[in-house]
Amino acid sequence: MGLIVQKFGGTSVGSVERILNVAECVKEETDRGNQVVVVVSAMGKTTDQLVNMAKEISSQPSKREMDMLLSTGEQVTISLLSMALKEKDLEAVSYTGWQAGIITEPIHGNARITKIKTEAIEGQLQAGKVVVVAGFQGITETGEITTLGRGGSDTTAVALAASLNADRCDIYTDVTGVFTTDPRYIKSARKLLSVSYDEMLELANLGAGVLHPRAVEFAKNYQVRLEVRSSMEKVEGTIIEGEATMEQNLVVRGVAFEDKITRVTVLGLTNSITSLSTIFSTLAKNQINVDIIIQSTTETGAANLSFSIHTDDWLETLNVLEDNKSILDYEQLDAENKLAKVSIVGSGMISNPGVAAKMFEVLAENNIAIKMVSTSEIKVSAVVEEKYMLKAVEALHEAFGLGD
Ligand code: ADP
Ligand code: ASP
Ligand code: MG
Repeated sequence: MGLIVQKFGGTSVGSVERILNVAECVKEETDRGNQVVVVVSAMGKTTDQLVNMAKEISSQPSKREMDMLLSTGEQVTISLLSMALKEKDLEAVSYTGWQAGIITEPIHGNARITKIKTEAIEGQLQAGKVVVVAGFQGITETGEITTLGRGGSDTTAVALAASLNADRCDIYTDVTGVFTTDPRYIKSARKLLSVSYDEMLELANLGAGVLHPRAVEFAKNYQVRLEVRSSMEKVEGTIIEGEATMEQNLVVRGVAFEDKITRVTVLGLTNSITSLSTIFSTLAKNQINVDIIIQSTTETGAANLSFSIHTDDWLETLNVLEDNKSILDYEQLDAENKLAKVSIVGSGMISNPGVAAKMFEVLAENNIAIKMVSTSEIKVSAVVEEKYMLKAVEALHEAFGLGD
């Protein structure tokens, strides 16, 4: 007898009919003699609707109250799915994040799981029950409800799989696996049979929304065998594991993209030795995530600094920089909105020089100007104008031989 964690995302539980389909999927696993823990998301677009309602009331709602609100979405699904399982003669019990013992750090809106007290779940499994857990939510040591960031139900599932020592964690979603790029936008995207943890981590961090980045981090750290598959079509999915089998010896395995990027430029920093650390520690204190950073020195010895942020953080960044102008000692601020980041990812890049050059060549051939660049051993990212994002993805996908 094995222990399997199954996770079903929003579309997969989007209606009563779909919940009944999920119950069938769970039953197939228990019929094989396995113990099952199911993690579910809120139904369909529920989380978006809750966010919109809050925005109608307040432009800056309290983060604590947002967590209280958003955590209700998943609670609807766990109870309905447990009822559906009972209709199929399966013993099932629903658990909220806190009942499941999911402890997080005390940060609202994007908390990390710090510990899982698995006793309650283990007790129910031993009693022969299917345990249905609300994804995306946890509780702090002082009893405050938190959420794990959008898409965080994946992380609940993988973290549970790791702490329960499960044999497998299956992520059921609305696509049949991890593709070479987002199949919703690029029709020639191809399903990958396997991807390594490192490649998947880069893809997820660079905008491939199919898996929450922290879920991949947990899977890698605890060697959880992860599979992404469809809740609607019974076909083979994508395995995420230590070493992915190289298909067709491709150096680039996927193209990820992300819009809503802003480039901020701080001109004329007079004290370039300390200003860099002061700027970034001030931004960090205000929970503003900075991505690509470029610094250059002018003839006068002053420094110019550019960095990219998510556009949602732009107003707050502006406020923070203006409020601290006297300490930071700069001349002028500038910003460019409506940018996007396009990235190519693949473990094969380590041993293949010239991949970045080819990427820049492809973008140049398509008359797409590059605003910023960043690289790691297994990825190259370029910031371009948002209106060229999909054109760039399509061209790179084709040029690196990823299409059908
Ligand atoms: P769920 O609600 O099941 O968690 P998500 O919407 O979070 O589903 O993730 C699935 C979506 O991820 C797909 O519908 C697809 O549009 C998007 N996606 C982005 N990049 C990729 C990729 N490389 N492979 C597969 N899907 C991707
Ligand atoms: N319901 C949450 C969201 O929409 C969490 C998840 O679905 O993973 O972001
Ligand atoms: Mg998701």
